[in-house]
Amino acid sequence: MNNQASISALLDLIRERNSFVISSHVRPDGDAIGSALGLQHLLEAMGKRASVVFVDSIPPHFDCLPGVKRIASRFIAADAVIFLECDCIERSSIDRLEFDAARPALTINIDHHRSGREFADFNWIDPAAAAVGTMVYDLALAAGVAITTAMADCLYAAILTDTGSFNYSSTSASTFAMAERLLQSGTDANRIAHAIYFSNPASKVRLLGIALTNLQIDGGVSWSHVTLADMERVGASVEDCEGVASHLIGIASIEVAVFLRELSGQPQFRLSLRSRGQLDVSRIAEHFGGGGHHNASGCIMDGSLAEVTERIVSHLRAACTQLHTDALVNAPTQASILLA
Ligand code: 5GP
Repeated sequence: MNNQASISALLDLIRERNSFVISSHVRPDGDAIGSALGLQHLLEAMGKRASVVFVDSIPPHFDCLPGVKRIASRFIAADAVIFLECDCIERSSIDRLEFDAARPALTINIDHHRSGREFADFNWIDPAAAAVGTMVYDLALAAGVAITTAMADCLYAAILTDTGSFNYSSTSASTFAMAERLLQSGTDANRIAHAIYFSNPASKVRLLGIALTNLQIDGGVSWSHVTLADMERVGASVEDCEGVASHLIGIASIEVAVFLRELSGQPQFRLSLRSRGQLDVSRIAEHFGGGGHHNASGCIMDGSLAEVTERIVSHLRAACTQLHTDALVNAPTQASILLA
């Protein structure tokens, strides 16, 4: 189904129902929260009852988004559940036991990850979308709903954060055009940027300092880690680890980067992978049981810091070597260029 057909089929499903639960993935980020709240505003404008549910806490810098105080942590019975940015129910920020007890009649999945999976009754996956926020915006236009300032604020935050402030390769002219229309609907871009990027807790900046001290570089690969003890020392939360990986891939001539965060309970690490250009880290994350986008992905690996680092770094080195070999094989030779 193309995007237009998906939007039209989705609108039919929405119009036939009255109540919705919306959720997104665990450790929700800007696109997860912004697109969920934006969709809630849209459904309410269509005369529906809609609740946003996140078991995980919402990072305080998203307090600026209209509707954030209404987010529930317990599952609420509804005619349909809409999952945003999830590849399975287990990765959502909904309690699985509460979900199973409620047995919703319809599940809907809206996603833009390359590793997205058709796990729901209805699936709309568009890996070309810069953010799920842009998909919700297209849905609102097709529904003929006027974009309110509240809706625009949420969708703008979703798009701003998931495009890396309009820097990632997923950003196109249409992304900027959408941002312009959201500003015309009343969004104060400066207020949103200030709340999201200029209100960091000191613990986050201190943790970044530790991560940068642990930086290692070998050829085109960079990596770093923080342990639970590091996080405890500076009073850092899990949310304070957001964004570290972007610093690692921001180094000149680095092609792929990984940030490792120690998890509690057993020897285990959460990995944030970043790449630039051709190197597809979603496939690497998938290989280790995770997923994500071409240039940003994640997964969990069991083992000690030394074991996990060795496993992932050697894998990334091999991926770089393979990429260079492929580039050489596919490059036209000097002779063929001269003959052409
Ligand atoms: P981050 O490194 O910021 O946690 O994640 C980067 C991207 O990869 C995000 O789009 C995130 O949703 C996705 N991602 C991270 N971890 C996982 C995972 O374990 N499974 C899947 N499917 N996606 C993940």
